[in-house]
Amino acid sequence: MVDSTLFRSHDYQHLVRRWRKVARAAGLQMNVFAQVSGYEVFVLVSPQLGPGGIYLSAGIHGDETAGTEGLLRWAESNHVILRRLPCVIFPCLNPWGLVNNSRMDANGRDLNRTFQHDHVPHIQALKAFIKPHRFSLALSLHEDYDGHGLYLYELERRTPFWGEDLVEIARPLMAIEGRTMIDNRRASKAGLLRRKINAKKLQAIPEAVYLHLHHAERTFTFETPSEFALEDRVRVQVALIDECVRRTLEEARI
Ligand SMILES: [Zn+2]
Repeated sequence: MVDSTLFRSHDYQHLVRRWRKVARAAGLQMNVFAQVSGYEVFVLVSPQLGPGGIYLSAGIHGDETAGTEGLLRWAESNHVILRRLPCVIFPCLNPWGLVNNSRMDANGRDLNRTFQHDHVPHIQALKAFIKPHRFSLALSLHEDYDGHGLYLYELERRTPFWGEDLVEIARPLMAIEGRTMIDNRRASKAGLLRRKINAKKLQAIPEAVYLHLHHAERTFTFETPSEFALEDRVRVQVALIDECVRRTLEEARI
């Protein structure tokens, strides 16, 4: 059966209504943290947020709907875990982009290249919001329109690394990216780009790198291929979020 919510993956108000239900069911606070191009931008926070929490974010690129839909679908199926999970969730960082199926924001900016400065008020507001927090895990959910399968970035810090296992979690659900060069970077193995970050060499800082540099022990970016069927892409995003959250809870014994 085809899930009718998939046909509304660019409907921001629908997304917000579903998140409100999650917030009520899971005991999360849902607040507006910025107004952008006529849209309210939301953050959900657990009341017990403290050290070792989890940061989950989607929709900084508005044409990557498996991220926004996958994060929501995961949350809708995990009220019980969300009740005890210390977390900060940004369900959609670029609402204008989601509605207009655009990677960029209304001003033509790629928001995921703006974390190095404070020119974008709502990215600045995000940074101020998370400033007091350290996270065990940060996930930034993306898609790639050139993608031929699933791949992911693991920013190198805490061991044991999880990247190889995460690729195996996705393998039964979707093809794994076969390209060995992605965005001029060499994959360490099919589907996995594990990167050491040297901030001095970067001209623009994406969200995941900012989290890695300042806030998070483990940081991953998932990239599903946006030309594939949405249902399949959502399923992969959900499976990867699920596995990362499960492992983080296990490590922290929450
Ligand atoms: Zn993206």
